[in-house]
Amino acid sequence: GQCRVVCPTGALMIKKDIDRAYEALQNKNKRVIAQIAPAVRVAIGEDFGLQPGQISMGKIVAALRKLGFDQVFDTAVGADLTVIEEAEELMDRIQRKEKLPLFSSCCPSWFKYAEQKHPELMENVSSCLSPMQMFGAVIKEQFKKEKFSEEKENIVIAIMPCTAKKYEAARPENAINGERQVDMVITTQELAIMIQENGIVFNELEDEAIDMPFGFTSGAGVIFGVSGGVSEAVLRYYYKERNASALKGISYSGVRGMEGVKEATAEIDGRTVRIGVVHGLKNAEKLIRKIKRGEEKFDFIEVMACPGGCIGGAGQPIPQNENVRKLRAKGIYKVDKSLPIKRSDDNPTIDALYNGVLNSNRHILHRDGKH
Ligand code: SF4
Repeated sequence: GQCRVVCPTGALMIKKDIDRAYEALQNKNKRVIAQIAPAVRVAIGEDFGLQPGQISMGKIVAALRKLGFDQVFDTAVGADLTVIEEAEELMDRIQRKEKLPLFSSCCPSWFKYAEQKHPELMENVSSCLSPMQMFGAVIKEQFKKEKFSEEKENIVIAIMPCTAKKYEAARPENAINGERQVDMVITTQELAIMIQENGIVFNELEDEAIDMPFGFTSGAGVIFGVSGGVSEAVLRYYYKERNASALKGISYSGVRGMEGVKEATAEIDGRTVRIGVVHGLKNAEKLIRKIKRGEEKFDFIEVMACPGGCIGGAGQPIPQNENVRKLRAKGIYKVDKSLPIKRSDDNPTIDALYNGVLNSNRHILHRDGKH
């Protein structure tokens, strides 16, 4: 409202969240655990003079350890869980021929928009929690089980390209038994400020690896950071063939690129599945109207509010423009290329989770608590 014009509310909020993070990091009774979203690694370097799209995951991990984080993980692991849960939910609905199209649910700005503007569509929105929330819940479960020499409170801080994630993490229905699964969200820009404030020379940091037991990520989990990534990851999950040309075929299916509305068709188990990919809520609205008028028909629709997906999030370094976003997207696909595991269900970490903390506990990955 009015206040925004006269006082720097945004700046104050940034300070408040950073201060809360420092408080947790200095508290000896807290074990502070980071999870880093895919889009952060191809953008944070820009605040230190690196080119957009340069991959600095190893440096982020090193910086977080210097800042005092006890454990550092990759949100792409959470995304691998989301791929499997969402792909199975979609197949289930296709087989039952109900509540289609299924809309993705991992972007909180889109989720809130659907809730407020299209409550009638909410049963079409996936019950899957976002990768950040799924992973927060999994980390908390895992650390409850593990025997540490010291009893400490586990605090999960998510490093996100996104300001809306702050509100998502605070939603009461995302808490389990009253406990938040993601205690705090720090944006890419905020982390860059913390790194600078602490005199850490980012560009000179040596790459460090993320911690076990969530040490492996798949390319499918990483491409969540770019518009079309959720759809491509889900398609990889369905495709039985594991060879490179099958994967290449998916990448050319129409899910990639910077257009506001994209379409892809896939043959899965003898069925033709139609997928729509939109970024920007205006594009989403247009597509919804077309569907309502019966002009378009889809089985799955991926919606991301920001231009180009999370790489273009409001918490990312500025300036942002189409060229910057293209380079960041390139960086994301480069990470995917460099990873030996391409599909979410080939990630050994995920197998271990379904047989471990998620065994008979899969409902914690879903909004309505059931699967
Ligand atoms: Fe956040 Fe934008 Fe990504 Fe949505 S698309 S999750 S608002 S960064």
